[in-house]
Amino acid sequence: MTVTAYGKNADQAVEDAVAEINRLDAMLSTGISDSEIYRLNESGSGVLSLDASAIVSEALQLNEDTDGALNVAIYPVVQLWGFYSGDFRVPAQDEIDEKLALADAGAISFDRSSNTVSFEKESMAIDLGCIAKGYTSNRIMEIFREDGVDSGIVSLGCNVQTLGKKTTGTDWRVAIQDPEDPEGYLGTVNVSDKAVITSGSYERYFEENGVRYHHIIDPQTGYPADSGLESVTIVSSDGMLADGLSTSIFIMGVEDGTKYWEKHRDEFDMILYTSDGRLMATEGVEDCFESDRDILYLR
Ligand code: AMP
Ligand code: MG
Repeated sequence: MTVTAYGKNADQAVEDAVAEINRLDAMLSTGISDSEIYRLNESGSGVLSLDASAIVSEALQLNEDTDGALNVAIYPVVQLWGFYSGDFRVPAQDEIDEKLALADAGAISFDRSSNTVSFEKESMAIDLGCIAKGYTSNRIMEIFREDGVDSGIVSLGCNVQTLGKKTTGTDWRVAIQDPEDPEGYLGTVNVSDKAVITSGSYERYFEENGVRYHHIIDPQTGYPADSGLESVTIVSSDGMLADGLSTSIFIMGVEDGTKYWEKHRDEFDMILYTSDGRLMATEGVEDCFESDRDILYLR
């Protein structure tokens, strides 16, 4: 992770931002044994902090909006594939069926007035990894502002969010990784006050018998999403939305992803890279996306 801030209170702002990243990680990580989410998963119910409530609330809304593509209850299936233990393997179909039955977002009951979550099925568990980094980068922008910083950038792996412009008055340049070449770039986007968040099949995967299995699971099949996309970048002023949508549209594919964008075009733009090497982008980034390749614009 990289946190950069400019101006008088920059040192304080960076210190506060790093403390916030650590606080949220300790609270939200499924792998930390006294985290809020770990305890929720152990007991099947719990009262959530305001942070976790905001994330769960957005995740449930996106589950509805994306017709189930984004599903935080997919965690048992993700575990089955070994993406948490590192013990990677292709599970048998009956194992996938068993865990998929637990991946039922509709069985997460969430009482917004008391911030209480309970799982209606035994052994359910959730993982906010698809959206928590975007929440975190949103929070960092708030902390920057509170600390009097008006120019800064945070990068949490494939999640980048920017505040204001560079001190030179120009936009931030954010590079988008080439899924086929970790050293190369698909292009760069020039933005201010925006999050640029990517989900890709190259981020976490294993190979067995020449087949690549990555970490983004299609809740319809229990298998890594095979939608014809290799990477999805979302550009939006809302980091949490961008994070949730990068994962969702990766699963939905070009056609359904484009339909979704058509309905929500005032909320975000997207840059897609397909398995057959096509680069597409929505018209909102036409003036700020630079690439040496041909770009097919969606309008
Ligand atoms: P991201 O890097 O934001 O695309 O999030 C990917 C992570 O979200 C994975 O590593 C899994 O932990 C989790 N995940 C995988 N599939 C899904 C899904 N369909 N819905 C929600 N979270 C998922
Ligand atoms: Mg995401």
